Amino acid sequence: MKANLWANYTIENMSEEASNKPMHFIRQIIARDIANGLDPKDVHTRFPPEPNGCLHIGHAKAFCLDFGMALENGGKCNLRFDDTNPDKEETRFVEAIKEDVHWLGFDWGDRMYYASDYFDQLYGFAEELILAGKAYVCTLSPEEFKQYRGVPGQPGKPSPHRDRPIEESLDLFRRMKAGEFEEGQYVLRAKIDMNSPNLHMRDPAIYRIKKEAHHRTGTKWCIYPMYDFAHCLSDAIEGITHSICTLEFEVHRPLYDWFIDNTSIVKKLKIHPRQYEFARLNLSYTMMSKRKLQQLVAEKIVDGWDDPRMPTLAGMRRRGYTPRAIKDFCEAIGVTKFNSLTELALLEHCLRQDLNKVALRAMAVFDPLEVEIENWDEGKVDDLDAVNNPEDESAGTRKVPFTKRIYIERADFMENPPKKFFRLTPNNEVRLRYAYFMKCKEVVKDSQGNVVKLICTIDPASRGGNSPDGRKVKGTIHWVSADKALKATAMLYETLFTRADMSDLPEGADFKDFLNPNSLTKKEILIEPSLKDAKPGQPLQFERIAYFTADAKLGTSQHPVFNRTVELKDSYGK
Ligand code: ATP
Ligand code: MG
Repeated sequence: MKANLWANYTIENMSEEASNKPMHFIRQIIARDIANGLDPKDVHTRFPPEPNGCLHIGHAKAFCLDFGMALENGGKCNLRFDDTNPDKEETRFVEAIKEDVHWLGFDWGDRMYYASDYFDQLYGFAEELILAGKAYVCTLSPEEFKQYRGVPGQPGKPSPHRDRPIEESLDLFRRMKAGEFEEGQYVLRAKIDMNSPNLHMRDPAIYRIKKEAHHRTGTKWCIYPMYDFAHCLSDAIEGITHSICTLEFEVHRPLYDWFIDNTSIVKKLKIHPRQYEFARLNLSYTMMSKRKLQQLVAEKIVDGWDDPRMPTLAGMRRRGYTPRAIKDFCEAIGVTKFNSLTELALLEHCLRQDLNKVALRAMAVFDPLEVEIENWDEGKVDDLDAVNNPEDESAGTRKVPFTKRIYIERADFMENPPKKFFRLTPNNEVRLRYAYFMKCKEVVKDSQGNVVKLICTIDPASRGGNSPDGRKVKGTIHWVSADKALKATAMLYETLFTRADMSDLPEGADFKDFLNPNSLTKKEILIEPSLKDAKPGQPLQFERIAYFTADAKLGTSQHPVFNRTVELKDSYGK
């Protein structure tokens, strides 16, 4: 951290954890507030997802920030479901969201709330506004509403109902609540300023009629508060100090303050909640709109919200992403006020960094070529020790069976090799990983001249892959026992979309025009027998191939299915 970047602020009060992290403007604001007397323990944030879909990597950026800022100051972060729109909200998404937040290691303690917990209170605040002459019931149709509101630069036109007597508005509002009217017939509007340059301040709607059952309150309500009204007041009720949201809410901020300052909640506040906006995450080749992700699921273009190609945390978990990688990525991208496109390669870089440390190594052959070991007895099995993770001694070793017939990768043999081909060639020696030095004696071909099998010999003195006499071999290749290997399916993923910037599509284009036809290729492979018990989510590295994990839904222990998490090296631009 460079302290001189923000030399105007005193930082003694900042926790050590925060001061070791890269500075960004939200950290800066909190440090400033603390310097101005805010007790760090009073830093109180919230993560407010709408339970109408699963969380994606963009949400992870948001909640790493919400929980992160609270944690590093010893404050609190609430999980609050923003369930003010009964249309698409479902309890199963509530459960999925909790699982995802926990997966990244964050916890809300006993502070899990719903905006719907406050429906009674919010209704009370609305009546307060009416009684203070600051809200009225309006009968304009949605089209008229827009017309009257006008455009920026020109004053709006007041609704003919703007000066409806208080008593009349109160009576209509109560009858809206009682279910006497149809959807769209009436709305309650705040009376703010029809001349404001900010359209959101031109008498925004506060309550609308919606005759829809709610996932928690059932049919108790037929009027529901608008997001702008419910959100700030829920923050105030919960004692939120820093309400962090994405940039599109910047223009709503005056409204955020207006609702708090014009209702009785303001008198009860110890600290006035403040809204701060940051740029949402856009990731190349990735689509982040929940509505469009929902469409992919509904149209069965993907295998559910947790399809490993989806940018959802559930999908990423199934694909083999680690929480560490996602958190490192969210820290690495920082927090700014400028919309930009982040390279998927950066996320994958963070992923490889972690996988290299934690993935258990294993051997799998994707394109098998049979090898018969001439000087090995039929039926003899040698259980060799293989290191599980060279980066982590505590991961231990496992046994890998060596037998008379093995498979190697077809590409690891060349009959007429070019210079610098250090793998297997006729009369040349390679090391079989963890096993023996092996020499090719004979190439067996079919009638068309294709290589179908190799006859080789091994040097028994090189057991474990160690040179018996100091002689060197240049290449080391992986293999599996032909007798003991298991068959498995590898799911090879590419990006779901072919276009880098999915947040900004050409005019008239549909996002589905950019679906990648090669986003999934299934391949039958051969794996070493220890992988029979691979646990879904356990990171694996199939040596020299890619990182994988066992799929949580598909496959059996007799025929497992593995998801390719990411390739060993960045292949972009190749
Ligand atoms: P969508 O608009 O795609 O439906 P949303 O933003 O409405 O998504 P919410 O459930 O309301 O989804 O989001 C919860 C929180 O996550 C909000 O504070 C929102 O600003 C934040 N968020 C959503 N998408 C992103 C993103 N791509 N990057 C950063 N934060 C995000
Ligand atoms: Mg939202």
